[in-house]
Formats: sequence, structure tokens, C-alpha cells
Amino acid sequence: MKTLDEYLELALQSHGHLCPGQVLGIRMAVRGLRELGIDDPQEHRKKLMTFVEIDRCATDAVTLVTGCRLGKRSLKFVDYGKVAATFADLQTGRAVRVLARDDSREKAKAMFPHWNDPYRQQFEAYKVMPEDELFAVRRVRVKINENDLPGGFHQRVMCECCGEGINGGRERQVNGRILCRPCAGDGYYEAKG
Ligand SMILES: [Zn+2]
Ligand SMILES: [Zn+2]
Repeated sequence: MKTLDEYLELALQSHGHLCPGQVLGIRMAVRGLRELGIDDPQEHRKKLMTFVEIDRCATDAVTLVTGCRLGKRSLKFVDYGKVAATFADLQTGRAVRVLARDDSREKAKAMFPHWNDPYRQQFEAYKVMPEDELFAVRRVRVKINENDLPGGFHQRVMCECCGEGINGGRERQVNGRILCRPCAGDGYYEAKG
């Protein structure tokens, strides 16, 4: 794995700015991968899956370090609103969840009280704070459905209502009909006009 500074340089390019979230996300991913004994995520890319629980700055940094991406189906977004990520080794079945501790903000403040700028306090503190003060780490078991694995989809069906194709078992059975999620009433949009 690269050093924090090397990752920060890459984060500046890919994320567009440096922020406490980049530091947190990089260190979160480094911790998770180390727990799994993965030193080179690139070499491990077909076996690694990452679940991120928030769509914020730190998520980009987690992606940067792990190489897990939505388009490769190795990154899963689960919308819990928590600054946490789970790193799963698909080969060994081992997984670890790393949660950013809420009290790290207060600690950041206490480390640099003279600044009176939470953004700067957190940015600098998160770089040097011991991992155990920054994160709570737990071994977890992750259930991964065959349809969620990286690679091609095994199934494709057509929605009997809108006629659109549905990949990877995301269809719903409603009163004997195969429907996509929006047609089954579980959509994020409604058709207009
Ligand atoms: Zn940011
Ligand atoms: Zn439909």
C-alpha cells in the first residue's frame, strides 16, 4: 500500500480537493485492507468487495485506495448515513467493518485548540491520530448473493409492465407478474406526462 501522503496526492486529483473526509477515507480503507492481510488491492481486485455506508467525501477516498468501483460491481453503496465501510475478501470469506468514531471530532478539537476551525483541526488531526482513536473495527460476516458478485449478470428478464430489461435478479414478483422495482411501487421516480 502507498503512504498517506501518496494517497492524498492522488485524492487531490480524483476528488478535486483535500478535506478531512479524504484523510478519513484513506485511513479507513488502509485499516480495513490491512485487517484482511491485503497489501496490494490492485492484485487482489477480483477478490475484494467494499460496502460503503455513506455517499460523502470519504467514500471517494475508500474507492481510491481499494480500487473497488460501482462499474466493476465491487463497490456497494448501502445508504445507512454512517461513516463506515466494510471490506470483504471474497476468496476467504473474511470481512471487516471499519466505523469512524464520533468522538474523533472532539479529539481533533482538543489536539489543535488554537485553530478554532473544525475543518482544519480535523484535517490535521485525522492524519496523525492513532487508528484506534479514529475507528471502531469489527470482524463481520457478509452475505453476498450470487447476483451481487463482480462480473456479468446471470439473469435478465423483461418487466411485464414497462417492458424494460432487468439484470441480476432485481425484478419483483407481484400477483404472478414479473415487475421492475419502479413498476412494483418501489421506484425513486414517477413517470411524467
Ligand atoms: Zn471532500
Ligand atoms: Zn417496469
